[in-house]
Amino acid sequence: TESDTSTDYFSSYGDLSVHELMLKDRPRTEAYKTFIEKNAFLFRNKIVLDVGAGTGILSLFAVRAGAKRVFAVEASSVADGCEKIIKLNKFDDRITVIKGLIEEVELPEPKVDIIISEWMGFYLLHESMLDSVIFAREKWLEKDGIILPSRATIYISPVNMQEYYKEHFEFWKDVYGFDFTPLLLSSLQSALQKPAITAIKPNQCVATHKVLANFDLSKVSLEEVQYLTNKLSFDVDKAGSMHGFAVWFDVEFDANNNTHLDSNRPYKCIDNSCSQLSPISCDNHTEQLCESVHKIILSTSPECAETHWKQTVCFLPASLLVEKGDKLCCKMELSQDEGNKRHYNISIEMLESIDDESDEEDDDYEDEE
Ligand code: SAH
Repeated sequence: TESDTSTDYFSSYGDLSVHELMLKDRPRTEAYKTFIEKNAFLFRNKIVLDVGAGTGILSLFAVRAGAKRVFAVEASSVADGCEKIIKLNKFDDRITVIKGLIEEVELPEPKVDIIISEWMGFYLLHESMLDSVIFAREKWLEKDGIILPSRATIYISPVNMQEYYKEHFEFWKDVYGFDFTPLLLSSLQSALQKPAITAIKPNQCVATHKVLANFDLSKVSLEEVQYLTNKLSFDVDKAGSMHGFAVWFDVEFDANNNTHLDSNRPYKCIDNSCSQLSPISCDNHTEQLCESVHKIILSTSPECAETHWKQTVCFLPASLLVEKGDKLCCKMELSQDEGNKRHYNISIEMLESIDDESDEEDDDYEDEE
């Protein structure tokens, strides 16, 4: 049931090893740290909501950058550890740890200036924690507030998984000199039921990747993330085998226009010929008065340093032989599972072309992780 899967979900985050893994994931944690430190002016004197604070690391970055007050909301038992960490580091005057579901807690302030959260799952959407962040944004974020990360993009590419095939499937053909082929079939079967979380090398992509979906997190609705579909066409640039599709994502940290004009901070118009001085912004030179935001991208692409998300590979029931110049067309569908909304059903349908509905193959994969 829904509440059972929710209990499993939060007990998994009660396990410290998950937090250790996330904290040690440097590309992940440093993207947040760098954005907050390089854009400390966005945080100065602001009220921040950390959705799913875990050990409290993002709340700590925010107060160190000058946030006035941070609400660290965490539903799992790691909230107790978080509270002790905040006290030990003497930030309990500015960080309030609130143990509970973001959907249920009350905050002592009517609205917050900034929402920060690390909600991303495998292929971005696994675990569906984005639903909770959207809920928090609608309920607690000031009209022109900032949501971090601010944009998310899912990418997809057809891939050659030769090595993976050898290691995980062909392995069964000779086990200490015995033929274990019956298990080869079941391991292939389960690979079709559940995508593999594995790091691929850039040269395994047999075509240039495409964007599967792109979300402006300051606006995206629940409906838009619960079901998405797209038809894509790839131009093969490497001859050989194609075993399936790899999916990965990036998130971008940026601030919406004008929200970074800090009315409490005196500034001087940088146009020397302009007579208007601080602290009122001069209409003509508002652009120049903005301290510019240092944008950061956290990418889980195979081209970038490996993260704990790796890449997600969805296998086809049979590999395809492809030639340079071939076109590969498919229709992808991702839909939140009705029984367990933490999971998505991913379906890939190979098409003759993207304006043609006729199927070459029709294969449904269920992500039952
Ligand atoms: N912010 C931390 C932890 C990120 S993992 C860090 O960056 O290291 C996501 C955390 O969000 C988990 O600890 C999980 O228990 C918590 N979480 C997920 N959904 C939540 C919800 N609806 N309400 C409160 N906490 C939630």
